[in-house]
Amino acid sequence: MDDQLPPAIRLRKVLQQRLESLRRAGVTHLPRQSASAGKAVEVATASPSITTAAATAPPVAPAIHEPLPPTIEPPAPQPGEQDIAERPSLPPLDRVAALRVLQTEVAACTCCANLAKTRTQTVFGVGNPHPRIVFMGEAPGYDEDKQGEPFVGAAGQLLTKIIESGMGIRRDEVYILNTLKCRPPNNRNPEPDEVANCRGFFEQQLDILRPEYLVCLGAVAAQNLLETKQSVGKLRGQFHDYRGIKVLVTYHPAYLLRNPDDKRKTWDDIKMLMRDMGMDVK
Ligand code: SF4
Repeated sequence: MDDQLPPAIRLRKVLQQRLESLRRAGVTHLPRQSASAGKAVEVATASPSITTAAATAPPVAPAIHEPLPPTIEPPAPQPGEQDIAERPSLPPLDRVAALRVLQTEVAACTCCANLAKTRTQTVFGVGNPHPRIVFMGEAPGYDEDKQGEPFVGAAGQLLTKIIESGMGIRRDEVYILNTLKCRPPNNRNPEPDEVANCRGFFEQQLDILRPEYLVCLGAVAAQNLLETKQSVGKLRGQFHDYRGIKVLVTYHPAYLLRNPDDKRKTWDDIKMLMRDMGMDVK
């Protein structure tokens, strides 16, 4: 039914749902956004036309800078309540606006006090706001923390090779995000409480993006998304389900750089994904 509403009304409903979700979490006010903060949280999008369209989108950010209104409806479904595929889809322009609102929240987040102190910036995610596939990694590393974009170091180059040379699609056709939005010092593994703090952000990103497929790169992404302790070796080679999204688990590109013999296993996983997507596999 929501699919038939005008885009501006649908966007308003999404924002209302976010506000209601924040209210339930105990938030009553949101910080006023400075001009420099607005620049810092600009969403990277896949195509110039979408970026241009976003610039003319309704001014959504100011609407959340005031105290929350006393009544907001309808309430947002809680994570896990409903398959993402069953929820009304947003057109690309609305997705860009919804991602911008969420990215603003992430940029201001200090839930993990230590990470908030040591990060250069948060690393939200990048790519096509209407992706068929999302790739999900672990956490920003040194290069990602400096540049504010996931998978831009050596591991990122290997991921690009997997996507572009292996799958034959452009990197900006997919969306790439991490489980954690802040870099753990010295690239240590994220702590459980940090992942728990940040989980709501990737859940909401996936709610907006609604991909058909999600590729978990490495154990941190796979175990946290699927809420399991099983190893990548046990989880790979089959599809899992996350709220109606088909999930494939494979090795993290950083692991593959250290263990090149396992590249063949990842290529087998990617071929399985491509076949399921109806893509040609050479
Ligand atoms: S890791 Fe996530 S939850 Fe923790 S401070 Fe960064 S954005 Fe906030």
